[in-house]
Amino acid sequence: MKEKINALFAGRNGLDMWNYIIVAVDVVLIAVSMLTNSYLPLCIAFLLLILFLFRALSRNLAKRQKENRFFTDAAAAIVRQHRLNGMRWKDRKTHVYKKCPACRKVLRVKRRKGPKDIHCPYCNNDFRIIIRIPGELDREEKEARKAEARAKK
Ligand SMILES: [Zn+2]
Repeated sequence: MKEKINALFAGRNGLDMWNYIIVAVDVVLIAVSMLTNSYLPLCIAFLLLILFLFRALSRNLAKRQKENRFFTDAAAAIVRQHRLNGMRWKDRKTHVYKKCPACRKVLRVKRRKGPKDIHCPYCNNDFRIIIRIPGELDREEKEARKAEARAKK
């Protein structure tokens, strides 16, 4: 039996992340259909089943993998953002996170009040940031702001 299934899927897309999601949505739709005595969710589930079969048996692997990459990229971005938020929260008292203006990568910088020259290790861009700590606006920072304004002119 297993060999037959393997032979059926040889050279075909088979199960990927989108197909797992379709199956999960189908299960929910069938449950909703049974609970509400409505045929509409069942019809949608049937259409999704056709899409599932089309994708699972598709031989256009390049296109299917491209569709799948869209999903895995989005999931990776969510995981990255979640991890960054966790780190931000964890060392909110000792570090700040700043985006490099050139390459948009997020850099972790020691949280010390005032201006700071940053060297981006990803793109070798040099830039200056001013770290503001709420409630601690003092002479040093005012001077730094003036210097920044002068630099812009
Ligand atoms: Zn950079």
